[in-house]
Amino acid sequence: MPLLLKDATLVELDPISIEKADLRIESGLISERGNHLEAREGDEIIDLGGRVVIPGMVCAHTHLYSTLARGMPAPPRQPSNFKEILELVWWRLDRALDDESIYWSAMVGALDAARVGTTCLFDHHASPANITGSLRIVREAIEKIGLRAVLCYEVTDRGGSNEREKGLDENLTLLNAVRRSKIQIADSGTNINSDTNSDSDSDTNSGIQAKQSSMLVRGMVGAHASFTLSDESLDYCAELMKEFDTGLHVHVAEDRWDVLDAKSRYRLGVVERLAKHSALNNRTILAHGTHLTDEDIAIARSAGAWFAHNPRSNMNNQVGYAPVSKFGDRVVLGTDGIGVDMFEEARIAFFKSRDNRAELGADAWLRVLANNQRLASEAFEVDLGSLRVGSPADLTMLDYKSPTPMTAENFSWHLAFGINSASVESVMVAGSFVVRNRKAVIDEQNIYEQARVASEKLWARLRKM
Ligand SMILES: [Zn+2]
Repeated sequence: MPLLLKDATLVELDPISIEKADLRIESGLISERGNHLEAREGDEIIDLGGRVVIPGMVCAHTHLYSTLARGMPAPPRQPSNFKEILELVWWRLDRALDDESIYWSAMVGALDAARVGTTCLFDHHASPANITGSLRIVREAIEKIGLRAVLCYEVTDRGGSNEREKGLDENLTLLNAVRRSKIQIADSGTNINSDTNSDSDSDTNSGIQAKQSSMLVRGMVGAHASFTLSDESLDYCAELMKEFDTGLHVHVAEDRWDVLDAKSRYRLGVVERLAKHSALNNRTILAHGTHLTDEDIAIARSAGAWFAHNPRSNMNNQVGYAPVSKFGDRVVLGTDGIGVDMFEEARIAFFKSRDNRAELGADAWLRVLANNQRLASEAFEVDLGSLRVGSPADLTMLDYKSPTPMTAENFSWHLAFGINSASVESVMVAGSFVVRNRKAVIDEQNIYEQARVASEKLWARLRKM
């Protein structure tokens, strides 16, 4: 049913603009924008009473598989450094994952995202004892909740060549499935044209655009980090990137360890090593970059790669503060599995940068959130940062009562000090509500109950490891 959103305060981040207007939503897209739009027969009318509507938030780096880690049993001993955090915490958890826990991790993670106004996730999945078919399970959960996601499997040599091969195959399987779906949509457009002998190419194009926009999952090539990847693995990843015209989603220099390893074993910087193996391009997401050298930053910048900053995770793992102000204009924001609340992550990024005297004002973090939408737009080949006619209706509606004037010039300060995810009232992806009036459209009670059952079983396996 077409929707008419009346009396909205439309806020776009890139470039920043604020305007009062109505929106009509049809077939998943914004079909009309203007003042005092007339209702048509069959329209569902929603009066927003001046509420803020922004394009949905995007998380540029997360791990849905860690959703059921909240409150999990303590590791056998306290990790004393980053490598031990991986070995004693995350590499035990990901090895304990089975189909059931992968599914409920993704369901709860995606539902949590929707509730805080995040409509698109770049997920980095690992489940080394259960690799084959794992991305199909994550995809099923994402589509059931109705979110967008760009998925990949973390290729690594840490479990030997058999697991490495399975990881590569898992990326390949997803990328092929996405490619097939896109071809089917394009073919359906051709069929419509020839069947009806339609003289309206634009109708066909907008039909294809609507269908492509409602295809909620895309793929990238995932890789863990330089220190767990052989030269051969990087070459295979590069082949997949080239074959599917996509980027690598990889951790770089999260801890000093990764940098020292690349230097001592290969006499290269971490990013330099990716470039040497043709595993670096302008669609690549370099997560963390905490200890990148100036030389590596220059190589990444000249390739046009994205730097995904994860301030809360970096603080939690005590790995240091990333040199964000050196990353240029290709910075995006991720959570690294610590929830998917981008209002919270941006606010903490702002305060952490102040604490470090990084000379990044609130406006810098507004631009970073806009970059997140640009990153998603590139992956989905539609404009996910716009509220203009023809853009997908991925909308976050906020009940934010400002005690002061809110303008395009000062909006970033409202983000830094006022607006948060508690303001999120309704969330829509491709024109369908995922959360409406603070309630998930799906039966959320059942999801949390099932997730608790799956967590207990997952934790029981962890205790035995
Ligand atoms: Zn990560």
